[in-house]
Amino acid sequence: MDNLDKDIQATAKGFHCILCNVNVPNKASLDAHLKGRKHVKLSTVRATRKAQVEHSVFVSGIRPDTAQADLVGYFQKFGPVSEVIMDKDKGVYAIVEFSEKDSLQATLAQLEHDMNGLKLRVKPRETKEFKLILKKRQDPKNLHQILERLTPELCQTTSVNEQMQKVVERFQLGENEKKARELLVQLLQEVFTEFFPDSQILPFGSSVNTFDIHSCDLDLFLDLYNTKVFQAQAKCSSEQAGEGPSDDARSEDSILSDIDLSTASPAEVLELVATILRKCVPGVHKVMPVSGARLPVVKFIHKELNLQGDITINNRLAVRNTRYLQLCSGLDSRLRPLVYTIRYWAKQKQLAGNPSGAGPLLNNYALTLLVIFYLQKCDPPILPSVNQLKDMACEEEVCVIEGWNCTFPSQPIAVPPSRNTQDLCALLSGFFSFYAQFDFASSVISIREGCSLPVTSFLTREKANGDNEEPERSLGPKLGPLNVLDPFELRHNVAGNLTERSQRNFQRECQEAEKYCRSLQYQRKSTKGKVWGLVRLFTPRDDDSRKVTEGGERELAVSVPFKLAALPEAIRGQLHSAGDGFRLLWFQKVCSAVEGLFQEVLRCSLTDTVIGKNTEGNTVSPIGKSTNDQGQDTSRRASTSSDCSPKSKATPGAKRALPSSESSDASLSPQGKRPRLDSHTGPQPDSPQWTYVQTHRVWAGRRKVRRELVKGAMDVDSRPEGSSVELETQVTRHIMEKEPEDKEPLLFQVQAQLVGGTESTRAVITFRPSADGAGLFQDFFHFLEMFLPKMADTLMGKMV
Ligand code: ATP
Ligand code: MG
Repeated sequence: MDNLDKDIQATAKGFHCILCNVNVPNKASLDAHLKGRKHVKLSTVRATRKAQVEHSVFVSGIRPDTAQADLVGYFQKFGPVSEVIMDKDKGVYAIVEFSEKDSLQATLAQLEHDMNGLKLRVKPRETKEFKLILKKRQDPKNLHQILERLTPELCQTTSVNEQMQKVVERFQLGENEKKARELLVQLLQEVFTEFFPDSQILPFGSSVNTFDIHSCDLDLFLDLYNTKVFQAQAKCSSEQAGEGPSDDARSEDSILSDIDLSTASPAEVLELVATILRKCVPGVHKVMPVSGARLPVVKFIHKELNLQGDITINNRLAVRNTRYLQLCSGLDSRLRPLVYTIRYWAKQKQLAGNPSGAGPLLNNYALTLLVIFYLQKCDPPILPSVNQLKDMACEEEVCVIEGWNCTFPSQPIAVPPSRNTQDLCALLSGFFSFYAQFDFASSVISIREGCSLPVTSFLTREKANGDNEEPERSLGPKLGPLNVLDPFELRHNVAGNLTERSQRNFQRECQEAEKYCRSLQYQRKSTKGKVWGLVRLFTPRDDDSRKVTEGGERELAVSVPFKLAALPEAIRGQLHSAGDGFRLLWFQKVCSAVEGLFQEVLRCSLTDTVIGKNTEGNTVSPIGKSTNDQGQDTSRRASTSSDCSPKSKATPGAKRALPSSESSDASLSPQGKRPRLDSHTGPQPDSPQWTYVQTHRVWAGRRKVRRELVKGAMDVDSRPEGSSVELETQVTRHIMEKEPEDKEPLLFQVQAQLVGGTESTRAVITFRPSADGAGLFQDFFHFLEMFLPKMADTLMGKMV
């Protein structure tokens, strides 16, 4: 790279952006990153900060009672002042920002500053290096400490049921905390009514949904609907009377004279809300409007109450789903202790609670819906479906928000109680068993209907909701590894932020918890004073335990996740038609892509050579077949559907015995003999395997060769690694022509397995190098970790 930006460092694995703390593997991704939202935004913020610093001075020597207006008055004699920021807590310093740089020089040139008898010290503002501050991950030490304090209390109880009630008591907001929050809401209501007549401030989320905990934020919705009506009427009547705006809207205090709510952007309204908070609400600090988020919000801190507040102006659905959660708690008293226990378990296992709001983990709302869904599925059900609730509501309770039907009874009394008598202890272990076995890959959880819907019905862009009363929606929900439809906004997957990994961890932890719940240690109080019941369930997750195999070696495996969005429309259509067999079909396509990748793109040659034991403990025989302990033939190549397999075959050229050109499909992959993958309840699919020889280090120096090959082309560097079959094939050929053959060619076995009977669907490609090539293979493997999933997507994208 000729012109390295000062933010960018070249590293052994590509580039590092210091500003955003991001690593990228190559120049193309770097260019994309530099043009991306995050980098552009941070660069802009940095530039703004720099300009602010260059225009402002740091003033000390002020007193707690010094008024902002005094400072403005004093410093104005050096030039126009654009802002004065005071340290509210201590009243010891202020930052004075001028509109013009020259004023700064004039201020600093004066040696002594006397403001009404106060000696002020004025100095240039320090420039702090602007860097992205990373959100802290939950500190495992902290998790352990909280648990240490909780453990004796839990162990003293006599049953898991009692322990779960204890968890609620221990975490829920105390009466005083609740009262303090109510008072703050009242105060905010009073202040906002001053500026926005008839507005309403409505709390929602965990402060009021019955799942409150000590540290929970205060989510508020500022409803400006009536204010808009008020403003429109005022405008209308004054126009009729041929005057300007009415007295109310014109008065100096009225912010409504500055803004037309019917046309103002959310960012403008939020800016105004932020100003009101800063200037008029005592105790409020760190006010920050965030308008780029899915739901624009103004964040603030209230120090005395030790809480973080969020004000949104467009979140009526959240207020309604909060009411729904309240209703569910009222319908069955077992929901609260279950949710508290599961939320705490999920936090300890790092499965839920994204620290900054955004992230790949479940949020508390989604987790609560998972508990509700489980209770809908209990036998007999503990909670009714949302559709059933809708039918129990009376006419006055009909509620439609943004076109979504949000009707349910306002009081629990309207709903018949459940006949289910299971206790909390059984329900908790039932929750873990339910999700330990849940088929996330092929299901979309619908709280509305109280059942899971087949993912195949969402594979095409059809109308996504099953309720005829709902409006037509052109787009379905964003599907991912875990799909939970919002009970009201039916095209919204509340777990759409989850990654494959976070979904897998969730299910794995459910499986481990399920196992534990079967033990006596869970069910009975220890007579020897040992920890029992919930305590072990709450042990924080140890991150490192999962990185190695049982034998202590690092497993050489790469996952290709089932990503609907990345597949071309034609394949989505085929999967849709395959119904329950969609995973089989998808896996076959992945297998074909893996064959294409090694044989065509990386030009590896198939061989019959034996490499020790395969991953199932079978021995690979010299004719490329593998036999199990009973001597049965277990080898099966991926059945190569003619439509999707790359046409060209491996080029012979390896020193070891090579197969004939037909061997990759005709003799070893009998047509029609497809792996058995038809149903998630059926037997595990076959795991096709291949043994390859690679005579050249085709992974080394690819970036450079690629760059040379695309030089002069229109889309230079715009194609990231692995996004073009032709280009990558050329790169390999080029390396093979230029570089000498290795004396000891690399021999390795590749095996594909479909995972996803009970977990999210993915193909796991496992590698086993020959003993003498193990060291070299590590390099190849590092390359494959990045290259294979991307290239497999590209190859599948070419299949029809
Ligand atoms: P906590 O703040 O303790 O994490 P919470 O329930 O308040 O729990 P928030 O993330 O603060 O969670 O969200 C506040 C509320 O906004 C939720 O209770 C819910 O009503 C609504 N909400 C949050 N996430 C979603 C979502 N993905 N889809 C729909 N509504 C949501
Ligand atoms: Mg909240």
